[in-house]
Amino acid sequence: MRPNFWSRFALSELNHSEWEALCDGCGSCCLIKYIDEDENGDVDEELVEYTDVTCQLMDCTTGYCQHYDTRQEHVPDCIQLTMDNLPQMMWLPSHCAYKRLYKGQNLPSWHLLLTQDAVVTQQQMRAANVGVAGRCVSETGMSDEAMEERVISWVKLDNTESY
Ligand code: SF4
Ligand code: SF4
Repeated sequence: MRPNFWSRFALSELNHSEWEALCDGCGSCCLIKYIDEDENGDVDEELVEYTDVTCQLMDCTTGYCQHYDTRQEHVPDCIQLTMDNLPQMMWLPSHCAYKRLYKGQNLPSWHLLLTQDAVVTQQQMRAANVGVAGRCVSETGMSDEAMEERVISWVKLDNTESY
């Protein structure tokens, strides 16, 4: 990876390793969410509602996908985040590095690329109330009605949040 690539190159110029390194593993994008679009077909960020219910492959204790490398064999509709589809994914949380860089913002201060220390990053993410580990439940066996009762407010889409 090139030094400080996130601030020196556009997202479209990143290589595979750099692109992957932007994910801080918060797991928020694996939560079930209700998304509304405006009249232009764009995501209305103010109307996105996250639940604490995750995709079946999530390990809710660790907050990591149990089969990340082969996930699309198990969950075909797991979205592969790319430069092409990022503009349609503004339902991502405001702390997500992809969304932040796309919007011309900085990496969140806890990001591993900045701290270079996984323990520090995890502590700071917890302090910032970011991440699904230990506070999500699996979608397995859950009815649509039960899921609708599990809307949460700890995933933020508000771009005025500072990280
Ligand atoms: S929300 Fe963004 S940073 Fe968090 S797991 Fe998803 S892609 Fe990675
Ligand atoms: S398959 Fe894995 S990465 Fe994809 S949504 Fe499910 S838990 Fe997340």
